[in-house]
Amino acid sequence: KTVFFHERKGTSNKQLDKLSKKELSRIAHDLLPARQQLPIYGARDEILREVGASDNLIIVGETGSGKTTQVPQFLYDTGLYTRPTPGSSARPMIAIVQPRRVAATSIARRVASEMGVLLGEEVGYAVRFDERMHRGVTALKYLTGGMLLREALLDPLLREYSVVILDEAHERTAQSDILLGLLKRIATRRAAAPKAAPGEQQPPAGGAPPGQPEEQPSSTPLCPLKLIVMSATLDAEKFASFLGGARTLHIRGRQFPVEVFYTGTPVTDYLDAATTCVTQLHRELPPGDMLVFLTGEEEIATVTTLLQERAASFMAALSHQVDPGADGRPDEDDEDGEAGGIPEGEQDLDGADGAIPAAPRSGAQGPAPKQAPAASEEEGLIGPTTLGTTLRMAVRPIYGALPFEKQQLVFEPAPPGTRKVILATNIAETSLTISGIRYVIDTGLVKQRAFHPHTGMDSLLVSPISRDAARQRAGRAGREAPGRCYRLYTEETYQKELQEHTVPEILRCNLAAFVLQLKCMGIEDVGAFDLIDRPTEAHLAQATATLVRLGALTPQGALAEPLGRQMAAFPLDPPFAKAIIVSQHLGCTSELLSITAMLSVENVFFTPPSEDGRQRALRARAQFMAPEGDHLTLLRAFEAYAATARLDLRRPPPRALRGLTGAECLPATARTRGVAHWCREHFLNQRSLERVWAVRLQLAGYCAQLGLNPGLATTGPAATAAVSAKDQGGASLLSRDPAPILKALLSGFPTHLAHRVPNQRAQYKLTTTSEVVGLHPTSSLLATAAARQRGARKRGSSKFKDQAQLGLSSLPESVLYTEYIITTRHYLRTVSAVVPEWADEGPQGVPMPTATLADPEPAAPAAPKQEEPRGAPAAAAPRRSKSKVEV
Ligand code: ADP
Ligand code: MG
Repeated sequence: KTVFFHERKGTSNKQLDKLSKKELSRIAHDLLPARQQLPIYGARDEILREVGASDNLIIVGETGSGKTTQVPQFLYDTGLYTRPTPGSSARPMIAIVQPRRVAATSIARRVASEMGVLLGEEVGYAVRFDERMHRGVTALKYLTGGMLLREALLDPLLREYSVVILDEAHERTAQSDILLGLLKRIATRRAAAPKAAPGEQQPPAGGAPPGQPEEQPSSTPLCPLKLIVMSATLDAEKFASFLGGARTLHIRGRQFPVEVFYTGTPVTDYLDAATTCVTQLHRELPPGDMLVFLTGEEEIATVTTLLQERAASFMAALSHQVDPGADGRPDEDDEDGEAGGIPEGEQDLDGADGAIPAAPRSGAQGPAPKQAPAASEEEGLIGPTTLGTTLRMAVRPIYGALPFEKQQLVFEPAPPGTRKVILATNIAETSLTISGIRYVIDTGLVKQRAFHPHTGMDSLLVSPISRDAARQRAGRAGREAPGRCYRLYTEETYQKELQEHTVPEILRCNLAAFVLQLKCMGIEDVGAFDLIDRPTEAHLAQATATLVRLGALTPQGALAEPLGRQMAAFPLDPPFAKAIIVSQHLGCTSELLSITAMLSVENVFFTPPSEDGRQRALRARAQFMAPEGDHLTLLRAFEAYAATARLDLRRPPPRALRGLTGAECLPATARTRGVAHWCREHFLNQRSLERVWAVRLQLAGYCAQLGLNPGLATTGPAATAAVSAKDQGGASLLSRDPAPILKALLSGFPTHLAHRVPNQRAQYKLTTTSEVVGLHPTSSLLATAAARQRGARKRGSSKFKDQAQLGLSSLPESVLYTEYIITTRHYLRTVSAVVPEWADEGPQGVPMPTATLADPEPAAPAAPKQEEPRGAPAAAAPRRSKSKVEV
């Protein structure tokens, strides 16, 4: 049996990146037989024929049939689509658009291995805040939809690409829908452009310097853009008709029967139910890996801990020595500095490790499950009792933010004597295919964006999946052999409550960012933009209104120069981009960058599930608590980390940010044991903080490209403030005036104000909808109020007889919120005390001095292009307006 080098555990990216040509070709050679077994291989010639014959093609094939990894290679191997332009080093590329970062990066890595090349050479990727490619060499570029949209801002004809493959189109993300509309438009325009050599397939001109696409005379020969839409479901007619009757190729995959089981009654706690189900099934079912669908990183961490706790109690019950790695405190002695409490399950599996021993069925019973198991035999959820298996359980998480090396572990075969239990987010539904899965446990839930038309806000909401998605998930169990799917919901729920299809995201998300992008591309009439499903006029009007309020569009709905274009240059929601730009005039850009970066990374704070752990975490965190609110709390925590890790917040961003991953941006001082220890002590997730730093560097880079000074801080050099913060737990921030920081935020979120409701505890009324909402229990405003209350009580204050009133008295009258979340109740999360009058200080919160904002070349900063000289000449401006005409 071949063990592929790149799949061997412990092989770091660094090692992979240093492989010799010979080693690379050995790996590629080893992988070839498996590739040739893929169902798509049989369709190779037909695919190439179709692509050659027409500009649009739809490929439908079961997940795992080889679409994403193989189709680009088929095209590459012909040499037709990636031939360098004569007389230039530019090489047209094939773009493969993925809905998720993880898919883009991990599949690019896989394809590089299959082709025997280093990642970043012939095969590269570009995702937000991370890019790895080599201009002129890279031919296959895996990227997210967001990145391609940004590239379209710079080059409205996407001249660098000969082929764009829109992958996972069935997911119907807003980005993929918008891209589909845009690509259709680009294809029409390119088809109308003069041909390089009539009748002959020619690569496009390509290589137009980013930011100045119009440098090419409009008569530059352009080849047609080939568009391939790939989807995992059979519902392809909609795409076909949208693309004017494009041909659809169906790839016949193997699908074995999957038996589906439901719970008899609805489960109340799906995490507990999932855990019970896994432990029980693990004891009873024959070998075969399990795949559990959960909704996010935090849940995956919780279930991992629960599994380990149960395993530990089984062991205790059997009076065996408890496995040191399975003591339910996975983060405690993790040498890797993982303060995040995500036990990555990467430890060696041959002894003291993270593997969970299964109690033999005949052995002593474990503790009674917390609730009637979701998977009780009468309910028919558990299959026939079989082996009384003595397999061990190897838990493997997979989710978007998981560091790359850890992601690769899910693809690694289960070590002998173990059963791999993969805890996954929706990413494993169709984006990634993992072999060996025989059992699927489906919670029936997914975390997805939901839009609140009243507040105009998006929030991530755990919601039921569609029946389409449920079928996809079940299908994962039947790729290699007959399998089983255990649904943690009732059959009635499935039949009556789940919708047949997932509602396209574009119909349920905030459209402000997209409207702004379309306007920047010169598409004035956004309502007439061709989309496969069109949002309502009211929905679009709301996005436009938001943008007008932020000053990105004129009241007439035209792009406001330069502010609108500058805002679009940031890979952020327009409100955050606005706040950063405004911070420049308030002298607090450094702070805004830190806060924005903290908000764009999940799970910075780590809370252990146990009550005791929770208390310890709260105490440790107390020192970051800022009385002004959660935004300043985030800032303090980050600056304290930056000081400990000796990160220089004032350092100008490196020139070439792209291609640097988080770890590579980090100085050695950030990777010491001391820093890891500090993070653990403060219950901060070190890996997340490193991501925050990487994001912050990128944002600073965008600022610099716009001519903004990212180092501008409220009190002297931010780095100094942070260093003293190290000793005082951020106390030095107290001396800092929070007003400019909050004003800048308010300029981005002028409508996100809420006022306290009199006589009610911690209840706020939204200015937009008059809805009355509570503060999230984790808010530092609540903690501050409680602390004041305790303090007053100690001093025996007689001023406040009523303790509740005392707590209330220190809550601010007005707050700004940047997150609105819905769990069992609605909450405002990430809230700060503000003075409402700040919002009236001008239409955008503050007056906007145009002199500094009038950047000569706002088109330059956007991410995806490489080696862009900072601060392009002012002469570029008139040329830019030409590009708008061109669209
Ligand atoms: P599709 O796009 O049709 O779902 P893919 O091209 O993604 O299929 O996958 C084809 C096969 O390649 C899968 O069956 C899987 O076994 C393998 N594969 C894909 N990515 C990886 C990876 N990162 N590591 C190991 N194997 C992989
Ligand atoms: Mg795929």
